[in-house]
Amino acid sequence: MYQKGRAWIELNLNNLAHNAAQLKRLLPDSCALMPAVKANAYGHGADTIARALERMGVTDFCVASVGEGIALRNAGITGQILVLSYTSPYQFSELRRYRLTQTVIDYDYARQLHAFGKPIDVHVGIDTGMHRLGERFDHPEKLLEIWKFKNLNITGVFSHLCAADGTSKAEKEYTKKQIQAFNHSISFLKQNGCSGFKTHIQSSYGVLNYPSLEYDFARVGIALYGCFCTPHDQTAADVTLRPVLSLKSRIECVKQLHAGESVGYGMSYTAAKDIRIAAVSIGYADGIPRGLSEHGYLLIRGVKAPMIGRICMDQLFADVSHIPSVSAGDETVLIGTSGNETLTAGDLAECAGTISNEILSRLGNRLERIAQTA
Ligand SMILES: *Cc1c(COP(=O)(O)O)cnc(C)c1O
Repeated sequence: MYQKGRAWIELNLNNLAHNAAQLKRLLPDSCALMPAVKANAYGHGADTIARALERMGVTDFCVASVGEGIALRNAGITGQILVLSYTSPYQFSELRRYRLTQTVIDYDYARQLHAFGKPIDVHVGIDTGMHRLGERFDHPEKLLEIWKFKNLNITGVFSHLCAADGTSKAEKEYTKKQIQAFNHSISFLKQNGCSGFKTHIQSSYGVLNYPSLEYDFARVGIALYGCFCTPHDQTAADVTLRPVLSLKSRIECVKQLHAGESVGYGMSYTAAKDIRIAAVSIGYADGIPRGLSEHGYLLIRGVKAPMIGRICMDQLFADVSHIPSVSAGDETVLIGTSGNETLTAGDLAECAGTISNEILSRLGNRLERIAQTA
């Protein structure tokens, strides 16, 4: 095993259990978590995270693709796995073989699923205002048509909020309208004899800002991993989330850079005075955005060091002039805690002009993932 070699992820599964309990506590008792473990569980490692959640009593999961669903089945996950986005008709047989539940993207997609000719478990997506997937809520006649396709075994109905993280009046009103439209669609379907389906609309910020909604599932992703999208997010619910993931690597070598010398590709950084620099064994192929060049930070021996020069595929550089004892082999922390200093995924994301979700979900397969239950 190549553990703690070059660059690696440490997973704190106690923090995962803590976050799951915190989110569950906010919701009505009848609402279960349906964790989003798509994109390799936001870079954490889908097998490890899903298995850990299953041990905590979670039975339902959502993913983005058939391939992700199959990987979970191969990892031994036995409960419901909902595929949230598009599956090509040539993979419909895989849905049945691996007992995956497919999202009905709209009326036309429902017809394609039916045409497959064998029963498929589905949740029907309803578009209440995001205008991504789902049949439009204001097409009630089309929704009823979907229920007439006899090869669709409809076990759920869901929607997705597009501004649940927002704190402005306009965003709150838009979210309330989406919730109303969803409730209206559910009542309409029930009045017309459609029944026996579960409902869900909240993702992380839906739970954090609208926790009292009474549906059957909450599709939690980023909050379950202990992160906010940005470091400044305010939420209605009072929760303490603990980051599950730390990202670490090593110093490969330390050297002097004399005044006037440059470091790295394109000579983009030139030392104004004599400094000491470190080459660090992690790069953009591991998921560190190249746009962080000259903008990011990392922790070494509990001290914050700025990134300098251009980030390479496999390395990046830091100015370590102010950290006297630093030496080759030292651990560096890009996300996580070192001494009294902490950098969150949100901090890194902010420097890169994105959100923690993107940073985490792009962490590469070259990183060893090490699970810990301390
Ligand atoms: C990714 C996703 C989620 C999880 O979102 P978070 O904001 O990470 O909680 C929930 N529902 C859908 C449809 C998604 O695509």
